[in-house]
Amino acid sequence: MKKDDPETLSAPEKDAEGAGTRPQANADIADFTDDYPRFTHEMKATHTILVPDMLPWHFDLLVHVMKREGYKVEVLHNEGREVIDEGLKHVHNDTCFPALCVIGQYINALKSGKYDPAHTAVLITQSGGGCRASNYVPLIRKALKAEFPQVPVLSLNFAGLEKGNGLELDLGFLLRLAYSIFYGDLIMSCFNQTKPYELKEGDSAAARKRCNEEIKRALDSRQYRHLKKYVRLILNAFSAVPVSEEKKIKVGIVGEIYVKYSPLGNSHLEDFLLSENCEPVVPALMDFILYCVINNVNDAKFYGKNKRTALLFRLVYRYVYGKQKKIIAWTKKQGRFEPQHDFEHLRACADKVINQGVKMGEGWLIPAEMAALAETGTHNIVCAQPFGCLPNHIAGKGAARVVKEMYPFANIVPVDYDPSATKVNQENRIKLMLATARERGSSSSEEGGV
Ligand code: SF4
Repeated sequence: MKKDDPETLSAPEKDAEGAGTRPQANADIADFTDDYPRFTHEMKATHTILVPDMLPWHFDLLVHVMKREGYKVEVLHNEGREVIDEGLKHVHNDTCFPALCVIGQYINALKSGKYDPAHTAVLITQSGGGCRASNYVPLIRKALKAEFPQVPVLSLNFAGLEKGNGLELDLGFLLRLAYSIFYGDLIMSCFNQTKPYELKEGDSAAARKRCNEEIKRALDSRQYRHLKKYVRLILNAFSAVPVSEEKKIKVGIVGEIYVKYSPLGNSHLEDFLLSENCEPVVPALMDFILYCVINNVNDAKFYGKNKRTALLFRLVYRYVYGKQKKIIAWTKKQGRFEPQHDFEHLRACADKVINQGVKMGEGWLIPAEMAALAETGTHNIVCAQPFGCLPNHIAGKGAARVVKEMYPFANIVPVDYDPSATKVNQENRIKLMLATARERGSSSSEEGGV
């Protein structure tokens, strides 16, 4: 940015200049007009793209699809205090915790010496919503600028952000990504309903591995679109695992998308619940995708946004929701596993608690998932919230009381994830919730139990 060009000064600077007290330029403030490296088509062949560890259930398949499209991709699994400290060094500690974790992972990995910064890029997904999630790319660029200015930041979003600096998405690529999410969701759900009850340690993990390998083979051809075949394959693979009849406490996990799924973000919450002899119930990632899609439809209704855009999103919604309904129907028919939520049912649940116009962050989806879990017998719920996340504190912690009034047996605990909170503190809050659950003598399937 040409600092002395009056055309490029912000209003406060101009005012200050007029008053003869122009403030000093602050080198720490991100300068969004600076030039930055962009990811070019040629870089597909030369650059390794680092992906933060956000979706452990889905990335195996999603990354496979990206590799098939010619991208060299690596999911980062570095974690620990040094990753968080690296994030703190580069991001203000008031910033959302997910941004801090993601940036910490990138910089820590780049500093490890494992990657050549001249041939490395980083990838971030963006929902395109109104909260800070849409500003992660400038935040990452600012952090990289200090030490690795040559590293381009790629964006994966469907909101038209970062035009010319994202993945080259065509229909086949998009469909494969969508099917990977469906299959990843089903594998996650079946695994969580099997693992706590398996008679032989490792059987569920082996079934998961087998399913992932089969789906990857299908994604390499057009076979992946045979939804019924692969849904059955997953259901049958997990049904074949010998399990006990024991009843365990079911614990739902809702909240901000990153801390809900990322083991780095939520201090390995699913593993912790398994170690506490519980069954984790994690809602589908596809519900979040549908939430983003339907918000674009609702925008026209509630906020007068473009009707043509809304129509396009409605068509996408119909297609994806149609597939979801089929998966639910086949899961019910097979009879062994609880199906995941029907998205239209989630919308109906949201309407009982909060308006669907509340769409910052994960907005109305959080109370909808809490209500749907409570209705289907998962009374114990961890509402995972990142530090610095105002929208989800309102829609999550704020709406929990209403959900508890509607479902008196709902046992909801909001847990904050932030750089200074210790894992012990987070786990102690969850242990208190589990103590209440055990006190109520619960088996989650009992009416009125927890
Ligand atoms: S949802 Fe919350 S944590 Fe995520 S970017 Fe928005 S404000 Fe930050």
